[in-house]
This record gives sequence, C-alpha cells and structure tokens, in this order.
Amino acid sequence: MARPRKIDSFIGSFIEKLADAVAARIDVSRGAPKGRARKSPLAGKKLDMSCRVAGCKNVSRGPRFGFMCAEHSKLPKKEQQAAREAWKAKHAR
Ligand SMILES: [Zn+2]
Repeated sequence: MARPRKIDSFIGSFIEKLADAVAARIDVSRGAPKGRARKSPLAGKKLDMSCRVAGCKNVSRGPRFGFMCAEHSKLPKKEQQAAREAWKAKHAR
C-alpha cells in the first residue's frame, strides 16, 4: 500500500516540523534571562529610574518609592505626587 505510507510520511514530516518549532520556542524561553520572563505592563519598556522631581539629577529608588531619590523621598506625599504628575505630563507622547 503506497498511499497510506505517503500520508504517513507527510504527517510524519509535519509533526517533525512542529516538534522542531516547539523545541525552538522552548529553547528561546529557556534562554531568556531569569526574572525578565514574567509578564508585566512594563515589559519591553525601559524603566526610567531618574528622580521625578524636575531638575533633580539623582537616581530614584524605583517604583516602590514613587520614583523619588533618597533626598526627595523625604518630601510630603502631596509634593511627590505633584512631581510625578508633572513628570508624566512632560514625558507623555
Ligand atoms: Zn530627587
């Protein structure tokens, strides 16, 4: 029987290709740096770590500190919020 064999080899090569594609994907995800694989709204975006206070050239302490540097994290929350909003308005595209 030649026909079923042909179909078998067609399916076989298809499955082989599929397996290759799957293996390639697994390799890619395995090769991803640790901690970066988690999905987040910020994925792909570079985090701007500068202090949100206008004119301040210090590096902020990150999102947990409202992007305020050590110096400006001492500011009242209201002022920090205002600084963040001003920064957002300035950096909005
Ligand atoms: Zn600052």
